[in-house]
Order: sequence, then C-alpha cells, then structure tokens
Amino acid sequence: MVKKRWGVYVHIPFCRKKCFYCDFPSYAGREGDREEYTRALCREIRSQGSSYRLRWGDPATIYIGGGTPTSLPPQCMKDILDALSETFPPAKGREFTVECNPGTVDEAYFQILREGAVNRLSFGVQSFDDRLLQAIGRIHTAGEAAAAVRMARKAGFDNLSLDLMYGLPGQTMADLERSVQQALELAPQHLSIYGLQVEEHTVFWDRRERGELNLPDDEEAERMYDYMTSVLPAHGYARYEISNFARPGFASRHNLAYWQDVPYLGLGAAAHSYLDGRRWESEADLSRYMDQAKRGIRPIHPEEEMTDAVAMEEFCFLALRTAAGISRRRFAEKFGQELDRVYEGAIREMVRKGLLADKGDSVYLTELGMKFGNLVFEAFLLT
Ligand code: SF4
Repeated sequence: MVKKRWGVYVHIPFCRKKCFYCDFPSYAGREGDREEYTRALCREIRSQGSSYRLRWGDPATIYIGGGTPTSLPPQCMKDILDALSETFPPAKGREFTVECNPGTVDEAYFQILREGAVNRLSFGVQSFDDRLLQAIGRIHTAGEAAAAVRMARKAGFDNLSLDLMYGLPGQTMADLERSVQQALELAPQHLSIYGLQVEEHTVFWDRRERGELNLPDDEEAERMYDYMTSVLPAHGYARYEISNFARPGFASRHNLAYWQDVPYLGLGAAAHSYLDGRRWESEADLSRYMDQAKRGIRPIHPEEEMTDAVAMEEFCFLALRTAAGISRRRFAEKFGQELDRVYEGAIREMVRKGLLADKGDSVYLTELGMKFGNLVFEAFLLT
C-alpha cells in the first residue's frame, strides 16, 4: 500500500426546504427516500471506500456535506457513521466535519455525531437577523442558530465553523454589523463568508427576472465586503482563502486539500471525485443513483481525462484562492514545466496591477487581488 494524503466527501442531497438562493444538488420534499438513499450510500462507502483505503491508507479528512446532512433521521445518520467507521477506522488527528442546519439538530443528534467520531461542525447560519433569514428562505431563526452552536459546544465539540452571507436582499450595513457581532460573540474557531450570487434555477433568479429582487447596490456590497475582510482579521481570524477565516490552527484541512490539489473520493449522489488525475461526478439524479447502487452498478458518469492545459488552469485557479497561492515547486513537480515559462506574461501583468504578489516560491493574490480575483483567474486561462 502506498500511503497518500487524501480525503473523503459524502453528499446528503436532502433539505427540508429549498433556500431561495440555493442551486446546490439537494432536494426538498423527498423525505420518503432517505432510508433507501442511506442504504445505497452505505453500500458505496463500503465498496468504494474500502478499495481506496487498501491502496492509500487512512484518509486525512472526512466531510459530510449537502444538502442538509442533519435533516437525515438519527438512525440514518448513525448507519452512515457506522459504515464510515468500519471502512475508515477512526484515526488520531483526522478531521471529520459534518455540516449542520441549526433548524435540524438537538442534544441527542450531537451525541450521535460525537459517538461517530465527528470532531468538527460547520453551521449554515447565514445571518443573525430573523427578517433576513425569512427573506432568503432559511428554516431556522437567529435564536435557534445561537442555541445550536452553544448546544454543540456543550456536547463537547470544540472546532466549530459558521457560514455567514452578505449582499442579501434588503440587508443594510447595520444588519451585517449586528450579525457579525453576534457571530463573534459565539467565538467559533472558523468563519466562512459568502457574498450572495444569484444563480439560475433559484427563486431569487426568477424574482430578479421579474424585477422583484431588492439587492444592495454595488457600492453597498463592496462596503460589506471591505467590512467583512477587515473586521474578522482584527478579531484574530486569519484569512486563509478568499471566503474563509480561521483562528490559528483551525483552517479547514478538508477544504484546503481541495485547493491544494489533494485527491478526494466523493460518495453519494452528485458527489465530485478527483483521483489519479481524473475528475468525475456521481449520478446526480436521486432515483437513478439509488437504482444503480441497488443493481451493483457504480453510479458515476464516465471519467474525463483532463488535458495538460486544463489541469494547469485548474491547479492555478484553486491554489490562487488560498493565501499561500501557487507554489512554483509544486507546479513544476506536477507538470514538469516551470510556472514562469507557462504564465510569464500573466504573472508580470498581474503583479504590475497590484493584484498578485511574487515572493520566492510563491505567487499569491494581494488583498486587492482577493477582491478582484476574477481578473486574475481570467489572466490564468490557457484554453
Ligand atoms: S440548507 Fe443549504 S443545501 Fe439546503 S437548500 Fe438551503 S442552502 Fe441549499
């Protein structure tokens, strides 16, 4: 067996209700499928998981995301955690995260997660303002979110992350400041901050088409971004990726691995995998996923081999998201070519514009570059 750093992602595609901004692969109103899905998923964990563990040893990180993992009935969650423990026996130092929706957890649920070796929780809070939570279609209140975080800590979890959003319809700077203040009072180890993107096939998309979505204007959204990116570091949260901030030692190792070109196995409907230099997606349609799993067919779409140019672009886009940026050494090791030969013009131009910094082995986004990342990513396109 060749020991290798790798991660496991498990997708739970159920939500109690679809949030108005969400285009993630998740279904509301399919509660009746949760047991059968759990059986199919456990089968996939045992078969696929075991074969990769035999090849590479224990995964460094496991992440159960969604959807809303905690919308599963407790017994389903227990079965999944059992399948994971059997396939990947709990190992010292492993980061094991579960995404939680504050409207779906209680003490007993946290206990199940603890017993299943979970040691990190990521709460989708988005805002601590009930009016805004309702306006974006969340199922929980601000009070429930704060109570869930406190309950998790009482249950013994000491590595907690909160997601917050800005640029929401009807949100003002004062609203955002109050939410951030409340998040800071809960003292999580990690915060993820996302600006609202209006995606196709969402309620917000349709509302915007009809001219009914009252978003903060560009200037206000920029002020919100500036506030977020200055207030969190001032409170001891270092920005280690465009949207992620953490206390020292609490950066998400699982998410960092995505940006650092570390392989991962995705299990469950619509999960993505990146292994042996190939990327693929599992069947996203729930019924087809369950049917294929039941018939012993591996529920994935054909693997596509990446060209070198696409692989280089991806490597750079992902690495540039992190504070550490692109390592020249790792680029050369991976592609057998010097970064500066491939991207000489782009790097020079972006450094001249103040969007990139160039120091020793690393090329990384400046603060300005983090704000206007798209300009840099465009410059790194080869295809
Ligand atoms: S809870 Fe998360 S995955 Fe589910 S609909 Fe809302 S944003 Fe999407």
